[in-house]
Amino acid sequence: MIEVEHLPVVDVHCHPFLERGAVTAEAFTDLTAFGGGSRQYLEAGGVAWSEEVRDELQRIKRSTLYFKRMILDLARFFDVEPSVDTVVAARNAAVADNYPGYVSRLYGDARLETLVFDFGFPLPMLDVERVRGELPVEVVPVFRIEPLIADLLKADIGWSEFRRRYDETIANALTTQGFRGVKSIIAYRTGLDISPLSRTPDQGLQALDAIRRGLGGGSMKKLRDHLLCRALELCMDHDVLIQIHTGMGDFEVNLLLCRPAYLMDLLRFPAYRACRVLLVHTGYPYHREAAYIANVLPRVYCDLSEGIPFAGNAAWDIVRGVLAMAPLNKVCYGSDGYALPEINYTSAKLGKQAVAAVLRELVSDGMLSQSDADAAAAMILAGNARELYRLG
Ligand SMILES: [Zn+2]
Repeated sequence: MIEVEHLPVVDVHCHPFLERGAVTAEAFTDLTAFGGGSRQYLEAGGVAWSEEVRDELQRIKRSTLYFKRMILDLARFFDVEPSVDTVVAARNAAVADNYPGYVSRLYGDARLETLVFDFGFPLPMLDVERVRGELPVEVVPVFRIEPLIADLLKADIGWSEFRRRYDETIANALTTQGFRGVKSIIAYRTGLDISPLSRTPDQGLQALDAIRRGLGGGSMKKLRDHLLCRALELCMDHDVLIQIHTGMGDFEVNLLLCRPAYLMDLLRFPAYRACRVLLVHTGYPYHREAAYIANVLPRVYCDLSEGIPFAGNAAWDIVRGVLAMAPLNKVCYGSDGYALPEINYTSAKLGKQAVAAVLRELVSDGMLSQSDADAAAAMILAGNARELYRLG
């Protein structure tokens, strides 16, 4: 047996949210389900919106293992019948009664104590203090570079000013605004096949000039690649971790160029070997690649988020596949939760269950001693993330 119920949890990658009050069952489904598309997605493809199409999307969203699991977890928590309607009614009553009190009981049930929030989603960026004020847990903010890049591209400025503001904004976020690290979603934009030689400032100058003159030729990729290299340098200067999105995401992700393997050339380049890098989503469904990289590159780490909880029972496969190669002190639990507090909750329950089950197998297979497995559970669920973000 690996006892995990009592263990505290740090959710190393998720997104901030504010209280939304009561929601309908339909809105709850839209806000918490993963995948299945949206009204905007279908309308942009020429599908006329109707009640039938709405019901079709709701049925898809409610038919994933992840969503069904969440309803079961919440039904147990509220002690009601496991249906979307009863669970949503119970959570709305609890929210109306006392939102922080509800979140406190919910997160207390999973011993979820710390949320590392990527403030780059949703946009416009939520106010850190306001988010912190609503949540009865430790909030650790992380700064995403892509909204900054979008702002700088909109400004009528040349390269030297662009680069100065880029550096200054990131440095300020880390030194005066309380952000504890940096995040990039370049996998969503131009992919992870980034040459470390993109670090030369001339590449930024040339790329921005070409963009300003309306030339294509991969200029945007050249600019983004250069700016990611620069972000790695700033993270080393400030001695903070960078989270890089790898693997799964929403339908916009480039499902080929999001493979962690594409990052190898960059991460093993001598100038970047000192940088601490967390491979967000551990590249799922390419999680074994991320685990291998974490094995051979000393400062690369894996975050189990998004596959847990949204890939449902793949949680076991993800933990098993990652632990096959990633050192036990380099794997961090995360959820990628957003919008409503219930996602982080069900994810923490599922994550604990999968971590415990896989460690139990490893003990019975003679791969780990019981005490090593007990220690590993505490490290994966909280300790490794606390160390990476120096959370005391
Ligand atoms: Zn995320």
